[in-house]
Amino acid sequence: MKLITQVLWLCAAGLITFCSCTETSGKNKKPRIAIAGIAIESCTFSPSVTEEEAFHPKYGDSVFTSYPFLSKDSSIYARAEWIPTVVARSLPDGIVSRKAYESILAKTIDSLRKNGPYDGVYLDIHGAMTVEGIDDAEADYVRRIREAIGPDPIISASMDLHGNVSPALAELLDLVTAYRMAPHEDALETKQRAVTTLLDRLASGKGRPLYKAYIPIPVLLPGEKTSTRLEPAKSVYAAIKPASLQEGIVDASIWIGYAWADEPRNHAVVMVSGDDQQKVNSTAETLAKSFWDARKGFSFVAPTGSFAQCLDAALASYKHPFFISDCGDNPTAGATGDVTWALQQLLARPEFKKPDGPSLIYASIPGPELVEKALAAGVGGTVSEFVGAKVDDRFAPPVKLTGTVESIYKGDKQAEVEVVIRTGSLRVIVSRKRKAYRTAPDFSNLGLKPTEADIVIVKLGYIDPDLFKMKADWMLALTPGAADQDILKLPYKRIQRPMFPFDSLMADPDLKAQTVPVSKR
Ligand SMILES: [Zn+2]
Repeated sequence: MKLITQVLWLCAAGLITFCSCTETSGKNKKPRIAIAGIAIESCTFSPSVTEEEAFHPKYGDSVFTSYPFLSKDSSIYARAEWIPTVVARSLPDGIVSRKAYESILAKTIDSLRKNGPYDGVYLDIHGAMTVEGIDDAEADYVRRIREAIGPDPIISASMDLHGNVSPALAELLDLVTAYRMAPHEDALETKQRAVTTLLDRLASGKGRPLYKAYIPIPVLLPGEKTSTRLEPAKSVYAAIKPASLQEGIVDASIWIGYAWADEPRNHAVVMVSGDDQQKVNSTAETLAKSFWDARKGFSFVAPTGSFAQCLDAALASYKHPFFISDCGDNPTAGATGDVTWALQQLLARPEFKKPDGPSLIYASIPGPELVEKALAAGVGGTVSEFVGAKVDDRFAPPVKLTGTVESIYKGDKQAEVEVVIRTGSLRVIVSRKRKAYRTAPDFSNLGLKPTEADIVIVKLGYIDPDLFKMKADWMLALTPGAADQDILKLPYKRIQRPMFPFDSLMADPDLKAQTVPVSKR
């Protein structure tokens, strides 16, 4: 009793503090690390507004399902006491409603406040979220999390290379790393790196890196011109890993930035952190210069054409399956995925009117009413209903689709219910809700065999690894939609100028490393 009184007195006097720092919490005590995140690419040229349900938030222990490297028997899991809070991830879409953002953030902060204190926080963010009435949404998110957790915990974030890093976000994040591959085959590896770097810095007692360098690069390009499968992005990005492994460097990252939103932060960025200031700055400047020097070499990842040109090329080709990306309405870039313009063109083509015409899979168009009718009719039944253009009808109206139900699949997290409608030689996937068709199971679940089709049309830009392996040939159709690939014609008002490629005659920018203030705690 006497001891308890004494301890309470010492606490009240500020002589004992329950500091959460690893160094002071005893050798055997594991660091306490919270996990939180919010991720979306918000296309500000889309008429869509994203609500909370689109984020499919995960709470508590279910958060771990997003991070296989944190399975309970893993060596990384064993290194800390984990406190999962809220991780929310949406398909790219339009601007996020203020209500949805505030609701997700409030739940996150509530959980963080209840379960603290922490030694570190891992944040899984994308970096291209736009919220109604908030500029630089990720900076707002991190700032409000920092207010909730206090000044001590080290915040380590992983980001998509299509995210944006403002000077404010660069300062708010103690540690940050970004994907190094597009398509993002290294997404999990990057998240693991953000977590292990945090663990290593805590375990070594080194804490926050002493220096952070930030270099904005006045270049804004779509992902379809900057795939790391091809030069020059391949070489520019290949330099990151060796740069980050140098003595005195903690992380090196390059962000392409997000092209379909209109804020001052939308442009490429290089950040390097570490404990050797000279090396941090020189590494950042080398990476930034290589990106700037390469700017004129970035070109589309596949041959491009109008939709009609792509169809003509596919019909004339001996290579099958011939993939065509319906690029402008790519939901993985933030478009609605319900633009009917390309489907309307396709249904008008005489080549596909008969069942024995060239086989073509069209993925996809949302059409909840048609899906309900297909469920009622069953496989083999005939349906007729309007599809698409519920959200984005700027380019074409809803299209009437009439055909036979070939298959039905229920249970997809995004689409909920999907059906295949056969009309002529076309197989059109109609979904209850929007979905991007990017993996082999997305097709095989519906009994579709893309490798046996003559032509496959997907609402994507660059195609993901599964489809990339399947394709015999591939073109990008420069179709209309909120993710129009011809970004020069988009109505930007707020991006910084001059900016490549908008101001092609601009002078070389100052690519000197800017030192980001680092908290010395
Ligand atoms: Zn991305």
